[in-house]
Amino acid sequence: MRVIRPFDPWKSPLCTCPEKYSFNPYTGCAHGCIYCYATYIPNFYRLREKKGLFRNLEKDLKDLPANALISMSNSSDPYPPAERYREITRRCIEILKEYDVRLMVVTKSDIVLRDLKILSEMRSAVSITITGLDELEPNAPSTERRIEALKAVKDSGIPAILRLDPVIPGINDRRFEIIEKTTPDHVVTSTLKLKADSMARMGKRLLWLKNVSFEEKGVYRYFPEKMRREVLYRIKNFCENIGISVGFCREGFEPPSRSCDGSHLLG
Ligand code: SF4
Repeated sequence: MRVIRPFDPWKSPLCTCPEKYSFNPYTGCAHGCIYCYATYIPNFYRLREKKGLFRNLEKDLKDLPANALISMSNSSDPYPPAERYREITRRCIEILKEYDVRLMVVTKSDIVLRDLKILSEMRSAVSITITGLDELEPNAPSTERRIEALKAVKDSGIPAILRLDPVIPGINDRRFEIIEKTTPDHVVTSTLKLKADSMARMGKRLLWLKNVSFEEKGVYRYFPEKMRREVLYRIKNFCENIGISVGFCREGFEPPSRSCDGSHLLG
């Protein structure tokens, strides 16, 4: 069974990512984010291990082109609480290192700090998602812990990326202190995009969402473009004024100057 796949999770022309691959060490995610995009996968909030993972990972790595960029993970956090003792992601990183891939770690967890040494010995970048929306991310580490984690990544010399995503207009669109406190090498930002199931969950938390005139894009509901441009360009201007590059994720605005996901930091 393949465990590394070409990155195209949304089959959307709005995605401006460079060519890369997607690898999820776990199936499902225990962080339980209310807005999660991946809950179309059955029992998604229940974390599961993959049978034959290490063997299948090695098999897939042998088929990859030289210099491949792997994003880990896009639809299941690679550092769920169980990773502290299971060390599955850690073993995967050791294997990935042997194959000299470029690795983009994407997580909401400070458990990634445990693996900074090995990550510093390979071509890697660490992207930590910090939204300031703790109540919507019930099992993920707090905003403060994530801020400290991203600062530690930066201090380690590994390219540090802040993922400010999702941004909900009027709720967390002015959390500039997250950027100021972490001073990352790059910021990826994106507005909340809802599918039918996440809309049902979020609509119970934020009743006003039911009155928004969302734009339908495929299976997603997007905030109106004017609103998205306003909040995202405010964040972009803030970052660029302090010398930090910015990319938008799946917004359909002009392509980023460097990269949307921070992959330019990996060479
Ligand atoms: S961390 Fe990501 S994959 Fe996990 S529940 Fe939250 S949004 Fe979904």
